[in-house]
Amino acid sequence: MITAETANVGKLSNQAAVRRLQLDDVTFTYIVDGAMAMEPQHFLSSVPAEYWADHPDMLDTNGRIAMSAGGLLVERDGFRLLIDAGLGMVTMDTGVGRGNSGDFLTTLAAIGVDKAGIDLLAFTHLHGDHTGWAFATDTKGEPHATFQHAQYAIADTELANQPVDHTGAGQEHEQLTIIETLRQSTNLKVIHDEQEVAPGVVALVTPGHSPGHTSYVIATASGKRLIAFGDTFHTPAQMGYTGWSSAPDSDPHAVPAARERLLTELSEPDTFGFGIHFGDQPFGQVRHDTGAAEWHPIETAVLLPPPRTC
Ligand SMILES: [Zn+2]
Repeated sequence: MITAETANVGKLSNQAAVRRLQLDDVTFTYIVDGAMAMEPQHFLSSVPAEYWADHPDMLDTNGRIAMSAGGLLVERDGFRLLIDAGLGMVTMDTGVGRGNSGDFLTTLAAIGVDKAGIDLLAFTHLHGDHTGWAFATDTKGEPHATFQHAQYAIADTELANQPVDHTGAGQEHEQLTIIETLRQSTNLKVIHDEQEVAPGVVALVTPGHSPGHTSYVIATASGKRLIAFGDTFHTPAQMGYTGWSSAPDSDPHAVPAARERLLTELSEPDTFGFGIHFGDQPFGQVRHDTGAAEWHPIETAVLLPPPRTC
């Protein structure tokens, strides 16, 4: 078991380290799979160039948005919930951005967790950077659940609104295979808005980024809450400007309402957030010191450095 060596607030412009937050009886650990770095003019074309010019600290040294991939491990009373399953073994360099991932299971093992010990894998949505390690293919080409003892939870509206044909190629085809495998999974748990999916864990389904995008609200023994809000926000700027959509948003017109609902929840007392793509500032709180919603990252323990760069 690796013990925490340092506790600090990371930089938004860095790829995520493996960080841990302890809130009462619940332990939250960012299981980092790898690095993603997106071109702001393509991935966030709705954000004016002047905004980045005014906030140079929000981009990395190459002018890209640092967005790591991975999942959030939530542990309480021996129950292990994993929210999302990383990008998988991927090296990519497209016009929209770069990716370099593949360390999800290595990170999990390094903090002393066996993949067979995961009780529930809950997806925020079915994009490739959240499902990468859900299934592995055997030597006969048959897919099997990576977390063999876990139920796999997905919102009804997310599963119902995915393409079913297998005519795609490359990564698109692989993603359809993952979705079809999930549909046929015997351990599938189809969930809906405001359902308690595990003790003290409630789903918030807000379409916009995807048809059934789901955030998870985890309550602690004393009533503190952490909200894993997935891709409702890709960068903190979108909390102050809820109309700044992201390139992969399936219904950009629905995005502001989804964000407002999340911001209302995040603005409640004793509430914390987890932003999977918020560089090395994944854990924080939303405050309104200047009127607009702003992300304030909090100190967390660093268990391991970022596993990859890109
Ligand atoms: Zn994502």
